[in-house]
Amino acid sequence: MTIVLGAIADDFTGATDLANNLVRGGMRCVQVIGVPNTLPNLSQVDAVVVALKSRSCPVDEAVTDSLAALEWLQEQGARQIFFKYCSTFDSTDKGNIGPVADALLERLGASQTVMVPAFPINGRTVYQGHLFVGDRLLNDSGMQNHPLTPMNDADLVRVLSRQTPHAVGLANRATLAQGAEATRQRLATLAADGVRHVICDTVEESDLDVLAEATVTQALVTGGSGLGQALPAQYRKQGWLADIAEPGRLQPASGSTMVLSGSCSRATLAQVDDFLARHPGAGFALDPLALAKDDKQWEQALAFAFEHLEQEAPMLIYASADPEKVKAAQAELGVEKAGFLVEEALSQLAVTLVTEGVGRLLVAGGETSGAVVSALGIKAMRIGEQIDPGVPWTQATLGQREAPLSLALKSGNFGGVDFFTRAFEVLP
Ligand code: ADP
Repeated sequence: MTIVLGAIADDFTGATDLANNLVRGGMRCVQVIGVPNTLPNLSQVDAVVVALKSRSCPVDEAVTDSLAALEWLQEQGARQIFFKYCSTFDSTDKGNIGPVADALLERLGASQTVMVPAFPINGRTVYQGHLFVGDRLLNDSGMQNHPLTPMNDADLVRVLSRQTPHAVGLANRATLAQGAEATRQRLATLAADGVRHVICDTVEESDLDVLAEATVTQALVTGGSGLGQALPAQYRKQGWLADIAEPGRLQPASGSTMVLSGSCSRATLAQVDDFLARHPGAGFALDPLALAKDDKQWEQALAFAFEHLEQEAPMLIYASADPEKVKAAQAELGVEKAGFLVEEALSQLAVTLVTEGVGRLLVAGGETSGAVVSALGIKAMRIGEQIDPGVPWTQATLGQREAPLSLALKSGNFGGVDFFTRAFEVLP
């Protein structure tokens, strides 16, 4: 069996966000971390998302990695390729969106692609080529202060023109309002004029449906996870995809429950408090200052975890702390060392406890999740149902366990206040 859609995502959580929307659109989806060395099980899989780390790395590296992912996805038979980036078009004048899109187009022998970052439901819209976050223009949304990819211009035609030597055009709302055929014609007219990249307006969710319909037969589409939710319906219309009753169906979960949190985002701090209030005595706080001193806290954490494992009770081990505490640790240890100590401790706890019987694992924190997934040696995850917007349950097969590990990875500000409790209630 071959897959329908092959996606290349420029970061890990963005990959999961897209995979989650593909499942919601009706596709059975696997996320792989980097280009796999060994073939994951792709039976009964309609879409694969390759998660890269190409958002803010050097351009050459982003292009090389993206082309390797493309080649691998083509080997799996992908009918359409999706280059996924952030809904706030995170990039610099050097790239990496323009150069990666150019390289993919060239390798595919295609002459044009669309750029659809918007996702109106999440407050990301594009009008006359200008990207809005809520009611603010992109350059007035906070994104102008991003440490790696500051966005100082909301005019995406202009932004992308700085990243590519090729012509950039616009398919605006007035065209989309006339439907998919008019949009297709507009794209063809632009292509005849040599326009290689087309920024697409998106004001309402229905605009994503029009764009998906207009571009379903193009070799390459690019954009945010919103377009991902609209595409599966078009694949079904083309007869490429069957009606799948439960695209997010996973094997029944087994094993003990554990939450590991290295996120200090505001939403996570509230989730930690909520969990501790509901489960008195079920939390263990890690402190990077203590971890730096000796092995005592690590041993205490392990003893705490084993005790809860034996009782088959839910548990939370967390380094999440308020800004003053984090600053104090960083002042003494340095930002990097403080982060490293926490990530290392949480990763090692995951490795040890998954071997000892944890089978339902929730990790809070984007960087923290990356560290845990890498320590566990996870290369591929099957995507299940969403818990809260953007965060699905997933399952990974591991050497350490006979049954698959159920894993939820939540970055910073995602999830409702009772997320650490409810996540396990919705897990089949
Ligand atoms: P988020 O998704 O909320 O941004 P991340 O895991 O990406 O969370 O980033 C949080 C970073 O803060 C991690 O590198 C983590 O190791 C670090 N960290 C967590 N707790 C503390 C703490 N108490 N003191 C200092 N750094 C911490």
